[in-house]
Amino acid sequence: MLVARDLTKEYLSGSRPLTVLHGVSFEIPQGSFVAIVGPSGSGKTTLLGLLAGLDTPSGGQVILDGVELTSLDEDARARVRGEKVGFVFQSFQLIPTLTAEENVQVPLELRGERGAAGRARELLDRVGLGGRLDHYPTQLSGGEQQRVAIARAFSNHPRILFADEPTGNLDGATGARIVELLESLNREDGATVVLVTHDPALAERADRVLRMQDGRIVSDGPGAERARDGGRHVDTHGDTAVGAIGAATEPRP
Ligand code: ADP
Ligand code: MG
Repeated sequence: MLVARDLTKEYLSGSRPLTVLHGVSFEIPQGSFVAIVGPSGSGKTTLLGLLAGLDTPSGGQVILDGVELTSLDEDARARVRGEKVGFVFQSFQLIPTLTAEENVQVPLELRGERGAAGRARELLDRVGLGGRLDHYPTQLSGGEQQRVAIARAFSNHPRILFADEPTGNLDGATGARIVELLESLNREDGATVVLVTHDPALAERADRVLRMQDGRIVSDGPGAERARDGGRHVDTHGDTAVGAIGAATEPRP
């Protein structure tokens, strides 16, 4: 279970404080597939960084499997991340001087895992890159780089995987393969997946869609597929009819 409790985040803009998250709260049960949607600048990336323990909030708590991340120091948070969390960055963040295999293998070795090389090859095989082990990032397409990033994020068997616009830089067909990959890893490993997306097709596949606007959650409901199954939708915005389907089909900004 991942719990966000009244999370706030302020940045200093010049000398003036700028509040980008205004008291965000929710609970995500283990094994969920959750999409966070909303306009550019609404606080999605900031929220993901807080949930993953990459960044600290100005107020509120993040509790992952009963451990309050927000009460830990950076070293302790790094340990929890190493044990439980996978993160796929929007820009992949592969190490350019390492091959695909090494990009997955090196973090395993740094964690002191035995058989890192075998595990790296197995993971790359699983994302369909068994034939690209020795390629450097510049020799891979955007979709292939994203798959290496996903293999790397799954290398520690995370209980929870965060992905920031994982299909943002990809064409439709490649994006669809990435979505299938995330879904199968969610189903097969029972990992929680929390992703930020502008992609209606991707949001539609989620169990649950959290819609953000101006640093707040304005709607929280099932993804479109669940909604068609008769899932319950809770509109926390009150005055608008922002439904799960509406949230999932918002235009790109
Ligand atoms: P989203 O991912 O939804 O596009 P972000 O979480 O990246 O939104 O940003 C939310 C707001 O916070 C934006 O207005 C952005 O300019 C601001 N912001 C993000 N990071 C910083 C930072 N390090 N310093 C100051 N302002 C920031
Ligand atoms: Mg963002």
